[in-house]
Amino acid sequence: MTETKHYDVAIIGAGPAGLAAADDVKRAGKSVVVIEKYLWGGTCPNYGCDPKKILLAGIEAKESFDFLAGDGLLGDVKIEWPALMARKMHFTESIPERTQSQLESVGITTLYGPAHFINKDTVVVHGVAGDLEVQATDWVVSVGQRPATLDIPGAELSIDSEAFLSLPEMPQHVTIVGGGYIAIEFAGIAAGAGAEVTLIIRDSELLKDFDSQYVDILTKELEKRGIKFYYNTEVTAITENAD
Ligand SMILES: Cc1cc2nc3c(=O)[nH]c(=O)nc-3n(C[C@H](O)[C@H](O)[C@H](O)COP(=O)(O)OP(=O)(O)OC[C@H]3O[C@@H](n4cnc5c(N)ncnc54)[C@H](O)[C@@H]3O)c2cc1C
Repeated sequence: MTETKHYDVAIIGAGPAGLAAADDVKRAGKSVVVIEKYLWGGTCPNYGCDPKKILLAGIEAKESFDFLAGDGLLGDVKIEWPALMARKMHFTESIPERTQSQLESVGITTLYGPAHFINKDTVVVHGVAGDLEVQATDWVVSVGQRPATLDIPGAELSIDSEAFLSLPEMPQHVTIVGGGYIAIEFAGIAAGAGAEVTLIIRDSELLKDFDSQYVDILTKELEKRGIKFYYNTEVTAITENAD
């Protein structure tokens, strides 16, 4: 028979939202469990904000150097992508384990595995040691988001933002589908690391939720870096060529 555990509060998802809730609930003196199916810490520190900023820091350092080259700085600075990636890995690889042990150290129970509701009071967690049922008085569902998948022929030839942030080598040509802030930041990173970058945008403008005055300035800067834009363009298929 499947074992059932009871808590005051059960939190599904150990990203920034779930962890903040867990902390507050524990401080209020309640029993709390956090259930995570992938990486403790969630998107931001493992495959979102933080790894992106580590890679971007290298690109920005090179751009600062290039700006001052000949005006007191000598030499030729190059991006060594595999080493920059190793630096990123150094920061990110210990995050899941550290996050989980911090939770346990303050008396928050952690369960690893995907959680599914089987009724309004109970979830089943499919753990490595078998299934476990969790019941709670209150629930926090903080499951975040995943990248959208392309429903087109050849979609399997593309990679998502998580895989981009672990690329072992920067390809010579990078085509990015999308015109949101993650697409723009990745375009800047790829171009700074020496790739020829193309952005394909379904809408007529970039960053449509941002102030257009600043978007215009940014677009000009990105064009100066050689980034090409296709607007009002829908990708309908991806095909493989020789290289
Ligand atoms: C490439 C990239 C760059 C970003 N850069 C920035 C930035 O610079 N600044 C910024 O503010 N934000 C940035 N973000 C956004 C930021 O990462 C998210 O806003 C933040 O992580 C959301 O936190 P969350 O806790 O809601 O969800 P998440 O961090 O996504 O966590 C949700 C967790 O729930 C788990 N989960 C899902 N379903 C289940 C289930 N059924 N059972 C158990 N666990 C489950 C997931 O595995 C995940 O760990 C970036 C995101 C990406 C992808």
